[in-house]
Amino acid sequence: AWIDMLMPYCEHPEQFTSDQMVWYDEAMVVVRDKFPKAQAHFLVMPRRPIDGLTSLTQKDVPTLEALINCGGSTVDKMKAENPHLEFRMGFHAIPSMRQLHMHVISQDFVGIGLKRKEHYNSFTTRFFNDASEVLARLRAGKSLQYDKREYDHFLKGPLRCHLCSEAPATMPALKAHLDKHARKMRVIIC
Ligand code: 5GP
Repeated sequence: AWIDMLMPYCEHPEQFTSDQMVWYDEAMVVVRDKFPKAQAHFLVMPRRPIDGLTSLTQKDVPTLEALINCGGSTVDKMKAENPHLEFRMGFHAIPSMRQLHMHVISQDFVGIGLKRKEHYNSFTTRFFNDASEVLARLRAGKSLQYDKREYDHFLKGPLRCHLCSEAPATMPALKAHLDKHARKMRVIIC
């Protein structure tokens, strides 16, 4: 089923090409998102099956720390290529794919996979949870359950540029607007 389409990367990382599989070891994989929502968009995953944030407990703190370290190295490599890129690392409140995956995504949102308003809002509203915050919650023994109705609401809200006060009415208008920011920030890498 499509919900498990991230699992093959974790089970057989050696079977993927270097443009799909960025890095792996015994415990972690870093893959390129197949439908990138920005110039640089990666998924960092544990190789053992973990069904999302909700199944993590305090004993999984080292796993989350390892994901964050791995994401940090990925950011460092990307910044070496293009120092103008800015990144966030984190998790969607309500993921669409089952295997636990941390997004590492540049903050330009110029990507061929960015098509729907929900795509943009999922990375620019509270629907996106920074990894550092998630780790703090897990360490404190707080819940990582996100109420679907509450969080779906963020996806449906109006488009608002995450960098300035613009509120483009449509996705084409947003994309043209983001393109202008990206050119100014010199982050267009392809
Ligand atoms: P979620 O909304 O679950 O946090 O994000 C899932 C991510 O997985 C999306 O950004 C989507 O583009 C990406 N994705 C979906 N299917 C595949 C796939 O088969 N391979 C890769 N590399 N990424 C995928």
